[in-house]
Amino acid sequence: PAAARAIDLTKVYGSGDTQVAALAGVSVEFAKGEFTAIMGPSGSGKSTLMHCLAGLDAASSGTVRIGETDLTDLSDKQMTKLRRDRIGFVFQAFNLVPTLTALENITLPLDIAGRKPDQDWLDTVLKRLGLIDRLTHRPSELSGGQQQRVACARALAGKPEIIFGDEPTGNLDSRASEEVLTILRAAVDEFGQTVVIVTHEPHAAGFADRVVFLADGRIVDEMRDPTADSVL
Ligand code: ADP
Ligand code: ADP
Repeated sequence: PAAARAIDLTKVYGSGDTQVAALAGVSVEFAKGEFTAIMGPSGSGKSTLMHCLAGLDAASSGTVRIGETDLTDLSDKQMTKLRRDRIGFVFQAFNLVPTLTALENITLPLDIAGRKPDQDWLDTVLKRLGLIDRLTHRPSELSGGQQQRVACARALAGKPEIIFGDEPTGNLDSRASEEVLTILRAAVDEFGQTVVIVTHEPHAAGFADRVVFLADGRIVDEMRDPTADSVL
């Protein structure tokens, strides 16, 4: 099966005159071991789609599957467990806990879940992200790029099947952005994970295997092996 799949997804916000159809019937598959970028104009439904796929928001109708698990069948408790065990998130705003060190931030979701990190895996991730000599620093002592690398390490630490990123490079300069995209690329190429990001940056989309274009809550185009130039 696909790593994740949306089938005829709709999402309506508000009611009556103020209704907005953020998603108007989206069907899309994300193959295992593939890096997909979702692009489209502001307000086209990118964040909504990502939030529904990641189980952070409920769709109005339609189905989301992570692997073979249908999210609509899950209780809140089961959904929380699925998010913890099988999904990683990287947000535009990093969302690190300011009072914790980098390492404490990275292992926090595992700690909360009562899971022991796979130490070999964690070491590989920390090394790959160049974080070994930053582990005792607090977020305020790290650059934006370093903070986002910590957020990536946190997303990768539990070995999730799939990593979702909502504008993960939106707050980064070009060098830090390059580092984070290289890491997401490596998650796919070296670790066989599946990555789905929302981005409006052609440069970021150039790292993906596929781009899916949204407009007005619908998928309007799709492209394989995009380059920064071809998605413009
Ligand atoms: P994008 O990520 O492409 O900018 P969004 O998914 O954020 O698009 O939004 C899609 C549409 O849904 C927009 O018209 C937006 O204003 C609307 N929308 C998003 N979230 C909410 C919300 N919580 N309440 C009401 N409308 C929303
Ligand atoms: P993005 O395009 O990156 O999603 P937005 O500024 O569109 O960022 O949305 C930020 C937050 O505000 C999201 O949680 C979204 O659901 C919410 N939001 C967006 N549009 C609306 C809206 N029209 N009414 C209420 N909430 C909204």
